[in-house]
Amino acid sequence: MEPTRILPTQADLRRELARIDGRGYPAYKEITGRYAFDGFTLAIDHVQGDPFAAPSRLRILRAPAAMGLPEWAHATPARRVATADWLARRFAAALDAGARGGRRGSGKSGLIAIDRPGQEILARSAAVVSPRMVELRFVAGLPAGGRRILGREAIDLLCEQIPALVEHALTLERPELVGRGPREGNLWSLEAQIHAVEDQQALRAALAERSLVAFVADGAILPRESGVSDRPLRGPHVLAFEAPDSLAVTLETPHSGPVRGLGIPRGVTLIVGGGYHGKSTLLRALSRGVYDHVPGDGRERVVTDATAVKIRAEDGRRIEQVDISPFIRGLPFDADTRRFCTDEASGSTSQAANIVEALELGARLLLIDEDTSATNFMIRDRRMQALVSKDREPITPFVDRVRALFQELGVSSVIVVGGAGDYLDVADTVIHMDRYRALDATERAREVARTFPTGRLQEESQGFPRPEPRIPLAQGLDPRAQRGRVKVRARETDEIRFGWESIDLQAVEQIVDPSQTRAIGALLSRLGGRYLDGRTPLREGLEQAFRELEEKGLDVLSPFGSPVGDLAMPRLLEVGAAVNRLRSLRVRGTDGPR
Ligand code: ADP
Ligand code: MG
Repeated sequence: MEPTRILPTQADLRRELARIDGRGYPAYKEITGRYAFDGFTLAIDHVQGDPFAAPSRLRILRAPAAMGLPEWAHATPARRVATADWLARRFAAALDAGARGGRRGSGKSGLIAIDRPGQEILARSAAVVSPRMVELRFVAGLPAGGRRILGREAIDLLCEQIPALVEHALTLERPELVGRGPREGNLWSLEAQIHAVEDQQALRAALAERSLVAFVADGAILPRESGVSDRPLRGPHVLAFEAPDSLAVTLETPHSGPVRGLGIPRGVTLIVGGGYHGKSTLLRALSRGVYDHVPGDGRERVVTDATAVKIRAEDGRRIEQVDISPFIRGLPFDADTRRFCTDEASGSTSQAANIVEALELGARLLLIDEDTSATNFMIRDRRMQALVSKDREPITPFVDRVRALFQELGVSSVIVVGGAGDYLDVADTVIHMDRYRALDATERAREVARTFPTGRLQEESQGFPRPEPRIPLAQGLDPRAQRGRVKVRARETDEIRFGWESIDLQAVEQIVDPSQTRAIGALLSRLGGRYLDGRTPLREGLEQAFRELEEKGLDVLSPFGSPVGDLAMPRLLEVGAAVNRLRSLRVRGTDGPR
């Protein structure tokens, strides 16, 4: 037995706060430390420098048994993530329900906030569950009047409100009481969340066995509330998804039994249909299907191959030595497209690079929407072929490469096509979205393709080479490289400030949470030198970094000595996408470093 460390208690904290009442704000630093409360430990890890600075960082630590958390809730890694997410949501809900007047003094005085999960269930540092301990990480604004400590307010915040929050959000009733009494349902909702996660993971695992790349269950609600809200659209006009018989499959789940839905087979799949008939909505749901969703989201049985990447045109981005020659060759001025570099890509070169980079990072499914693609990358019709001869056109359009991608590399594509009928010739499966209803149009499409030949000339018959692994040089990955201080900062899901540069992530659509962006930023500064040392290929370095993350958790990314509560797990593919968009990225040339 290790000796029990005697911690100061809640009463000690009260006394301490009373003692520093009225003093200058920096005296708050003296309360840094851990305190034994009734049934939990409060850790005050970092005290803000003044009332206007970033709020102080706190943690609640509680033994699972002390909070009534049953053993099944933390029995597996997947359950620990599901439970942690559920607890973070409860904590956030308890903060809302408290309807706290909020401010109680100057600056951020009186604020309590936790990193709030969205519709996806991600491993996040705000809540960490292990069989030994449950930890909630949050921030609080220690109260001040002007720059003087408000001791009484601080006592209320730390010694009254926090225990009340623990009672509300981090205390579950005993399992034998479930279904009785006023607080029934707590454990049911936790169980529902765990079951939803396990079902989604089982569905995703079943895809490969059944040669599918995605699955959309009957009853799924795909449309979202609005462009700025990821919640499900509600109302009488919302149509639940239903698979056409000919494309329907039934997959087994551990908790919901057999589930029927649309199975999208490997190969080339088109989503066709009139404007505003739900094509992009379906594709967007597929792109989110790489993540698990909360019960009630509407997409909790929509799953996609975990390596799926949404591809789009992204003019203006930087490209570092990417082999885009399968798509583009013989540019004016003879730019080498086998090691293509540019500080300002065009629509077509950016879309080509996005695909090749995704392949290099291990993508097995590409999701492409005509709405966000470069037209000349997607298609070149018969008339344009006649007008501009092939030797004057560097681009081999995607329509002429998509089959080789599948046949040679096993990479499938799902493409939204409203206008380019030439794609009918290359499709294995055609889904017709008609007034939000999915129909199987595969046979009809074949017929149409036979009846109306396009007369197009296939522009490429060569194979699709697997991209060569690129080896990043360490110096381009150092946030200090551009003078002095380390500075990495994330803005929403769109941007990372990395040293002096800004990484534009707007086109990286599968970053779904600002906390993922922060984690990517933190991971970037860890990659240089440690995992990407100038000898390791990008994907291999990222895989090593992710092994460490899985082993030690997100806390290794904390920029401080103590954990932070605002990180969420990204996918390797999005971290790679951020590296690829670094303007300072340099990779090894064929003959060593340039
Ligand atoms: P498309 O890409 O075919 O032009 P969208 O997918 O953008 O169409 O959908 C058009 C509109 O219809 C969007 O506002 C979307 O929210 C809505 N919508 C999509 N699917 C459904 C559905 N199943 N029920 C109700 N509205 C839907
Ligand atoms: Mg659309």
